[in-house]
Amino acid sequence: MGNGMRPLVAGNWKMNGLASSLEELQALKVALLAEPASAEVLVCPPFTLIAQANFLVKDAFGLGGQNCHAAPTGAHTGDIAAEMLKDAGASYVIVGHSERRQDHGERNADVALKARAAWRAGLGAIICVGETEKRRAAGDAHEICSSQIDESVPEGATAANTVIAYEPVWAIGTGRTPTPAEITQMHAHIRRCLVRRLGKGASAMRILYGGSVKPDNAAEILGLAEVNGALVGGASIKSDDFLRIIRAV
Ligand code: PEP
Repeated sequence: MGNGMRPLVAGNWKMNGLASSLEELQALKVALLAEPASAEVLVCPPFTLIAQANFLVKDAFGLGGQNCHAAPTGAHTGDIAAEMLKDAGASYVIVGHSERRQDHGERNADVALKARAAWRAGLGAIICVGETEKRRAAGDAHEICSSQIDESVPEGATAANTVIAYEPVWAIGTGRTPTPAEITQMHAHIRRCLVRRLGKGASAMRILYGGSVKPDNAAEILGLAEVNGALVGGASIKSDDFLRIIRAV
């Protein structure tokens, strides 16, 4: 972990979690109050739990949404505005997760609009990029990630309002991860793309790694100089596992 940035460890619960799952957040809160984390900690539960979670966890750690609509209000049945997330207690929203790109056909331009919506509402945007297995096998991984950065990260992105998550699609939920050297190379590549596009200020923007981060590999991945934190899916749901990852920073 380099550059003197405060790392961010963010949990993405995806479409998992009922009211009974708030027990996990309570356990996380107790543990973090007893021994504060060196990393910034964030949990992105389903929309339905954010307001209750906010009441429960207060300021022990942050809460985020997993997606938002680009508009602040309107006739968009079933969608959630960034302003609603903010109102419920969120401080961040994940945009452009590969499951949104795949399941809902979200394109880079849509992701950029959602990132702007996050800023408009006063939320930080966690913008996800990452190549499929096919594109990696074809040798296109770096090219795919640069075009995702160029087209999904709007002008105006700063280290204060934006976090990038590099999530190779083939590593999500599979138990497979790139090698430490591959992660380092890709993060350095993304950093170069950000600085080229946004200027020197982007050298302070956090770039998280996501994809099968587990308690057993967290120290190795989070120890890489180019890695400024993690976006954690499956292993964020149980507070014990998530805490072991947080403590690996
Ligand atoms: C994710 O979906 O953002 C993710 C990283 O999932 P997992 O940790 O389960 O691979």
